[in-house]
Amino acid sequence: AAKEKERSDLQNALSNISHIVLVLSGKGGVGKSTISTQIAQALSSRGYSVGLLDLDICGPSIPRMAGVTSRTVHQSQSGWEPVYANPNLGVMSISFLLEEADAAVVWRGPRKNGLIKQFLVETDWGVGGLDYLIVDTPPGTSDEHISIVQYLNDARPMMDGGASGAIVVTTPEEVSMADVRKELNFCKKTKVPVLGVVENMSGLQMKLSDVQFLKGGLDWNGEDCTQQALEILKEKCPEVLSMMICTDIFPSSGVGPSGMASQYNVPYLGKLPLDPNLLKACEEGVSFVEKFSGSPAAKPLNDIVDRL
Ligand code: ADP
Repeated sequence: AAKEKERSDLQNALSNISHIVLVLSGKGGVGKSTISTQIAQALSSRGYSVGLLDLDICGPSIPRMAGVTSRTVHQSQSGWEPVYANPNLGVMSISFLLEEADAAVVWRGPRKNGLIKQFLVETDWGVGGLDYLIVDTPPGTSDEHISIVQYLNDARPMMDGGASGAIVVTTPEEVSMADVRKELNFCKKTKVPVLGVVENMSGLQMKLSDVQFLKGGLDWNGEDCTQQALEILKEKCPEVLSMMICTDIFPSSGVGPSGMASQYNVPYLGKLPLDPNLLKACEEGVSFVEKFSGSPAAKPLNDIVDRL
């Protein structure tokens, strides 16, 4: 009976959400939280009502990236009220529930499961529900993943949901991809549809004028000739300074993320270059594709959002 009640509570809570998108990665530091946040920001600025749920219970970084750090959650009659980054984007994270921002959360599995269920059942995303719930998870496949997938599948099997599923983020490095294969196998085993693989930090693209050496420290025989070099370029061929340069950072070996996606028969959603403005948008808590629409990662990110 308790199990039945749990299921019907979850069903009720989730019935008002059109799409649920889990964001997964094999390793940490590949840009998963950045991409979760910026996908949520982009969808919300397109007018969708969006929830961003941070399930990284031991290392929550979503509130900072969405620009909502100092606020706390209100408990109302209808449940926990998320913290709003903008009128269309509600954020929920454990860090809103901690007394001190830097408190360490040292919890075992069952307690994490309990909180995840509470997040799903008790968060009041507002009248009208959500068009999208973006769920940021910790790296790997741990307690958090098993429990969110179990709760979701119990309440509304993801295979039946059509639009619900997982995005898997990886860098082009083989060490990251090796872990992503495990993630893809996890999805298969737990019947979570893979919406696609996103390749992040794929090369560095920037304007020549933004390269640091042109701003100081260009060394020629022990002499700083940055200024002269800049002057010469400006005078003789100013168009060069606005040229984009592109360089690979990670050695690409083997088939790469797109080849891996086709081996697993899942969509490849595209690649985002390293882009300092993506980092800046997260630091400022704003929508990257809106504020930095001309920046190299903006078009590929918009293309990914188009496909959700
Ligand atoms: P994860 O959630 O996978 O641990 P984060 O989203 O926290 O990774 O990203 C790790 C760091 O890399 C952050 O400082 C983030 O700003 C930066 N970052 C992620 N993707 C990019 C990118 N495409 N260009 C530049 N910096 C990025």
